[in-house]
Amino acid sequence: MRVAMLSVHACPMAKLGGRDSGGMNLYIRELARDLARRGIEVDVFTRQREHDHPKIQEIAPGARVIHIESGPVSYLPKMDVYDRLDEFTAGVDAYVKEHDLRYDVIHAHYWLSAEVARALAPTWGVPRIQMFHTLGLVKREVMDEDVDGESDVRVAIERRAVQESAAVIAASEIEAGELEELYAAEPAKLRIIPCGVDPEIFHPVRQADARRALGRDECERLVLFVGRIEQIKGIDVLLRAIGIIFRAYPELRDEICLLVVGGALDAEDGEAETDKIVELRRLVHEHRLEDAVDFVGSQDQPRLAVFYNAADLCAVPSLTESFGLVALESMACGTPVVGTRVGGLQTVIENDVSGLLVPAGDDAALAEAMARVLLDHALRLRLAAGARERAKAYSWHRVGEAVAALYADLMQPVEV
Ligand code: UDP
Repeated sequence: MRVAMLSVHACPMAKLGGRDSGGMNLYIRELARDLARRGIEVDVFTRQREHDHPKIQEIAPGARVIHIESGPVSYLPKMDVYDRLDEFTAGVDAYVKEHDLRYDVIHAHYWLSAEVARALAPTWGVPRIQMFHTLGLVKREVMDEDVDGESDVRVAIERRAVQESAAVIAASEIEAGELEELYAAEPAKLRIIPCGVDPEIFHPVRQADARRALGRDECERLVLFVGRIEQIKGIDVLLRAIGIIFRAYPELRDEICLLVVGGALDAEDGEAETDKIVELRRLVHEHRLEDAVDFVGSQDQPRLAVFYNAADLCAVPSLTESFGLVALESMACGTPVVGTRVGGLQTVIENDVSGLLVPAGDDAALAEAMARVLLDHALRLRLAAGARERAKAYSWHRVGEAVAALYADLMQPVEV
């Protein structure tokens, strides 16, 4: 079996934690790797945006990335990628014809790829599977402005993809519910397949060793944030919450440090810092948190595991989250998460068992929950044990198994 995966803007080989690279890039890389191990050949088609990425890159034996040129070889805002989708689609089709490739299924990721799948699936005569990773209508509910000016066109494409695809994958039952309620998805088309974690990278190590590796003091109380630096990740709520803790417990001012991982610039960006980081630095200054916040930039996965292990807690204050890989990775390292009661986070974290859940956007509730975990050693140990246990239920192997089963179902001849 051969699968054409479409991921127009998220290259599975991209550096993670940048302006627009995160969970989806990792998901596609890990899924492609696992499917290839099962003997399913995978070609991931993505836009060429780095000069030093070869046209064809192997992810693993049997899985490769094929970079297609559309527009300038550089980062492009989403709507500029959208404006060049015809060029991308033609590039994929031309490559496939030139190399006489045949696929059994198209598996598209995110709304941008949905349009490409829509054009190619009928031409190639193959079924089309869609996974959105985030949904425009859900994002619209929590964001005060349409940051990328994408909302209307995005939602229209999502609606069409839900109707036309043979199957839609949701990362949690919450996302499946949103697809049904907001997009009128037929329940029979939906498959709930939670994301995974790699236990070889993300597993507990002694906190003292992790701190030594980072050059951090053993007595510090370390709060970790990991992710793209965007309003939707709620980092400004987190900064306000740290300010609230300091006002309630002035004696902790010298002890607590917030480590912010993520926000690397894309190569070729040519800009000093993303606007969001500049804004956050302003917020740090406003709350007089300069001594309490360290922006450490993006980290690769093995190094990230050291950060999770060094931390006393990982804060995931997202306004919305279709799954929340960061929470799962932290839990796999045995570091409790204080997260928001939104989307997939509610399914990954069981409140008061494997972490704490607070309402999104509520800085006071976040401050209170974080203070509890930081100050109550017994609670921290209990949540850490619960988190480790919970994380065992998730693996990329299971994701691959469920996706392979879905492909097999779609290949069954339809009974008449
Ligand atoms: N990540 C990383 N290095 C960084 C920042 C993030 O490897 O510096 C990874 C992180 O390990 C996680 C992913 O990026 O796997 C973020 O996924 P998540 O589902 O939390 O958020 P998304 O980016 O999908 O919104």
